[in-house]
Amino acid sequence: MARISSRNIWIDTFYSLQKEHLEERHRKRWVLQFNYRLVDKLTDDQKMKGWKISQTARHASFTCLKCSNFWNSSRVTLIFHYCLGKTKTGTVLLRPFSQMCRQCNNDCFINPTFKVENVTAILENLILKIRKNCYREEIDRDIQDVKHRIYIRTKPHERHLCEACMDGVCNKDNDVF
Ligand SMILES: [Zn+2]
Ligand SMILES: [Zn+2]
Repeated sequence: MARISSRNIWIDTFYSLQKEHLEERHRKRWVLQFNYRLVDKLTDDQKMKGWKISQTARHASFTCLKCSNFWNSSRVTLIFHYCLGKTKTGTVLLRPFSQMCRQCNNDCFINPTFKVENVTAILENLILKIRKNCYREEIDRDIQDVKHRIYIRTKPHERHLCEACMDGVCNKDNDVF
């Protein structure tokens, strides 16, 4: 059930942030959806349609559903694709990258759980990018300033257990637009 509640944090937080900062300002609602197939590149067709990428890496925790093993990681990769588009709503797609449990040592990928304040900081940052890159707003505030990184001691990153490392996209800050 942890997986479902952590997904709701993203959807609920995005809903209220977009309402205040996008919908009321620009008369268009934005919707966040999960998509576990996102990559860190856009096709020419996607670029033509106005898709953009925001990628970051943040702290999150994991709980193995099989053995209850719990661990923290300071390098959990998130890829967002976002598009203003011509339809009634703007779209944000999110792929959080998973990690494998070292105790179980199987192919079971566990989804990360982010703290609410981290989810809020990540989404505030994304919404500033949407305002800047989709609506051409002049953003005075430096987008980097919104990054409150949370430092918690974690074990060294175990690349062979990290889905983002396997895909060669781990721990990057990357924007494509
Ligand atoms: Zn396990
Ligand atoms: Zn990694």
